[in-house]
Amino acid sequence: MLTLEQTQKTAEKLRSMGTYGHFINGEWVNGHSGKTIDLYDPTTRKVLGSIQAGDPSDVARAVDAAHAAFPAWSASSALERQRLLLALGEVMRKRQLDYAVMDVLNNGKPIREAMGHTGHAADIFDYYAGAAHQLKGEVLDQKDATVIVHREAIGVVAQIIPWNSQMTMAALKLAPALAAGCTVVLKPAETVCLAVLEFIKDAAGIIPPGVINVVTGYGADVGEALVTNPKVRKVSFTGSRDTGAKIIQYASVNIIPQTMELGGKSANIICEDADLEAAAESVVLSTVANKGEICFAGTRTFVHKNIREAFLDTLARQLANVRQGDPLDPATQIGPQSSSIQFDRVKAYIELGRKEGAKVAIGGEAAKVPGFEDGLFIQPTIFTDVDHDMRIAQEEIFGPVTTILEWEDEAELLARVNDNIFGLGGGVWTQNLARAHRISRGMETGIVWINRYYNIRSGQPLGGYKQSGFGRDNCLDTVLDYTLQKSVVINLAEGPLGLFGAAAAPGAGAHH
Ligand code: NAD
Repeated sequence: MLTLEQTQKTAEKLRSMGTYGHFINGEWVNGHSGKTIDLYDPTTRKVLGSIQAGDPSDVARAVDAAHAAFPAWSASSALERQRLLLALGEVMRKRQLDYAVMDVLNNGKPIREAMGHTGHAADIFDYYAGAAHQLKGEVLDQKDATVIVHREAIGVVAQIIPWNSQMTMAALKLAPALAAGCTVVLKPAETVCLAVLEFIKDAAGIIPPGVINVVTGYGADVGEALVTNPKVRKVSFTGSRDTGAKIIQYASVNIIPQTMELGGKSANIICEDADLEAAAESVVLSTVANKGEICFAGTRTFVHKNIREAFLDTLARQLANVRQGDPLDPATQIGPQSSSIQFDRVKAYIELGRKEGAKVAIGGEAAKVPGFEDGLFIQPTIFTDVDHDMRIAQEEIFGPVTTILEWEDEAELLARVNDNIFGLGGGVWTQNLARAHRISRGMETGIVWINRYYNIRSGQPLGGYKQSGFGRDNCLDTVLDYTLQKSVVINLAEGPLGLFGAAAAPGAGAHH
């Protein structure tokens, strides 16, 4: 069992993190501009360390390195790729506590979650280590032709990730691309990325130079140069809808394919026959996990009218037990928001909800945590009396704020659930199997969890419908999306076709 003393001791060792360079061609280098960006601890608002403020010339250097490394890496065997991926998983596990503490310090997530996320990141490398062997071509056997369908690595890929879950995001992007034989330029978020950089530092010795490159910096300074570089053949992005829309435009410059994992406003549907304790627990979990900074969060809870009061009582009782405080404390269940931008944004949404006429049933204020007066804490907040059209019921808040809506009729429920630009996650709580299937199939969303929210499984496709994006992470299809198919058609009916006076060979004209 992890103790506060242990995590505090680790934090002391790691609190002054210094300045990280870009990681290009196996080396740590300073950025061309010489400018750096400070990264903060949202629990104390003190500076933790700094990163390079990259610019287009840093990007060009990283892309060139990835491009030079591509021929050898794409020609490597599945075994070689498997070994690298397993080794990356090992590196992740070896200093799991250190990375988790760095994530706590930089992001504010509670240590119990950070340990889980870091362990999950290691598992993602293990999963894709196996997937490396599943990359196979195909043969179409026909009477007069054999078609060999090769799967070839697409080339250099740009990967851009957000700040909410840096380790799992990095693993979800890097692992399938490496398994496919691609080389990578990764751009982590400028506010939270120290644990990823430390992980790459530890892994540097086993990464063939140029296979993974990391360029840090502001999105606007680095992103366009990266995605529009003619040597980049695909972009995989996780982040907000609006940034995603920009990246799709950049990708149109050289017509490169995109994977887009964007925002959400997921519906968690509680039916009349639900296990109320378990369903309420899922709503608490969804509100507080990672302080609500999770794209899949079930921020629209639809409760059946007949159980509304009982459900709200259960919810209030469970929420009262949530421990908010020092994220280094293994007992803590909710820490501070990741940054002051995020803190202000969530507070503004809570104010907006009040103005729109919704009722703050629980929370609704910045939270005071003794000893951490500068911390960016917000109370877990539940809105009731919420109308479907209110902005707090339609827009992604990305904080510990859940709206409660009521429903009675299933068809009308589904119409409201689907009347949203997003379609990422979702939950259904019922003992009735037919109803569970009916509702889940009726939801326009990429994931539905029945009777347990956030039940994420190895190999399960993760991704959205509608403006939550397209493409899937966390599964074998992700690897395929880093490849292109090439059809080599071998003609078995030899000789001329007989079109221009040449004597046709028997059967030469038959082709389908
Ligand atoms: P963001 O879009 O602001 O930033 C994401 C990344 O994009 C960062 O690295 C940022 O520097 C970069 N970026 C910003 N502007 C850019 C530009 N013009 N060109 C290229 N890159 C640019 O998102 P965020 O606030 O960091 O993350 C929160 C969002 O991410 C939420 O909307 C959340 O739902 C979403 N998210 C989605 C998933 C998923 O799997 N669908 C997972 C986690 C987070």
